[in-house]
Amino acid sequence: MATQRPGFPVRLTPTASAATRGRMPAAPVKPVAPSTPSMASDAVRARMVQKLAAQGISDARVLRAMGAVERHRFVDSALVNQAYEDTSLPIGLGQTISKPNVVARMIELLMGAPALAGKPEGKLGRVLEIGTGCGYQAAVLNHVATEVYSIERLRGLHERARANLRPFRLATVHLILGDGMIGYAKGAPYAGIIAAAGGEAVPEAWIEQLAVGGRIVAPTHSAKGGQALVVIDKTPRGLERLVLEAVHFVPLKSGIA
Ligand code: SAH
Repeated sequence: MATQRPGFPVRLTPTASAATRGRMPAAPVKPVAPSTPSMASDAVRARMVQKLAAQGISDARVLRAMGAVERHRFVDSALVNQAYEDTSLPIGLGQTISKPNVVARMIELLMGAPALAGKPEGKLGRVLEIGTGCGYQAAVLNHVATEVYSIERLRGLHERARANLRPFRLATVHLILGDGMIGYAKGAPYAGIIAAAGGEAVPEAWIEQLAVGGRIVAPTHSAKGGQALVVIDKTPRGLERLVLEAVHFVPLKSGIA
């Protein structure tokens, strides 16, 4: 469980601290010195957010969400010191958590969905994430969407994400074990669909499950070989598709394992 890991003892967001209070044995409260590691985590994360802004992430909602979620609680204890570096990290079973810059970039693109046009402080409605992994991106999405459905095909990671997210008691994040290639019809229609794994093409099911005014952001195989980020908007006039920069994601695979 995240809370058993060493590293920055946590200074929790209001939601999380309420959850943690319920779990912790009643211990005398020690005064917090300004130089505790929790302050260090806040400071390091604030620097990460500054760096994201310098790299071109400009959506205030996304920067706030990246600043709020404690990434170090989602990675292995041996990697805690790298949690806020701009690097992807292994999360087990051959999978990786994307670097903060890629997570922020993709969520920023998602916030550009037609339905949110002209609403710089608006929230997305229901969002589907394909590839829960360690649950980090689902936690970030929870800050910018009213509801998050996140689907993972590997049982080990699905369970790990559940354990990582449990302390936060996020009633609006739903983790599903399943094959995200067929989407998740029960939560549809979605205001946004974001994939953390790259396939040949965007599955038809995702397009069907997207609301009009919604947007898909997904890595897909590019014509040149490799992968590129693809944005698909569902508008009243039909689908609008944009191919953006090259990216490198783990493969989208079918079936549950
Ligand atoms: N968003 C994650 C990153 C996960 S890496 C995080 O924040 O940690 C991508 C994940 O996609 C992997 O865990 C992989 O198992 C999963 N994946 C690949 N194909 C999938 C599919 N068809 N359905 C659901 N998950 C899939």
